Amino acid sequence: MSAYDRNNVFARILRGELPCKKVYEDEFALAFHDINPLAPVHVLVIPKGEYVSQADFGATAPPEMMTGFWRAVSKVARDLGLESEGYRIVANHGPNGGQLVFHFHIHIFGGRQMSHGMRSMPKPGREE
Ligand code: 5GP
Repeated sequence: MSAYDRNNVFARILRGELPCKKVYEDEFALAFHDINPLAPVHVLVIPKGEYVSQADFGATAPPEMMTGFWRAVSKVARDLGLESEGYRIVANHGPNGGQLVFHFHIHIFGGRQMSHGMRSMPKPGREE
């Protein structure tokens, strides 16, 4: 796994150097709308810490960060009104996972019916 790049775009958003359309923030997480939405609702949730990917987060984040972060993911989806109709969460890890930004993040997709199969997962730059 490569080292964390402090100049990645999400690190810059966290530092307030780049704007974002914020939907939620607490001590563990920041959530904002994806710049290139692949669903009517497409929100990213990022932890407030230097984690390259899901693998890095899962291996190194302290328990309170893990709990706080995943509670934030659930809260964001609930506050966006997605819970009753359903939504999809995705974390891309590494090249085969299609990860483009190397600061761990969860995609929340909602607002439309998504296919059950994994064959047509939303991909960056492409509608399902
Ligand atoms: P992944 O790394 O999981 O492939 O996806 C990165 C996501 O970040 C993409 O869906 C892309 O549209 C989004 N993204 C990239 N740069 C920016 C940015 O500057 N602002 C926001 N809001 N989203 C971004």
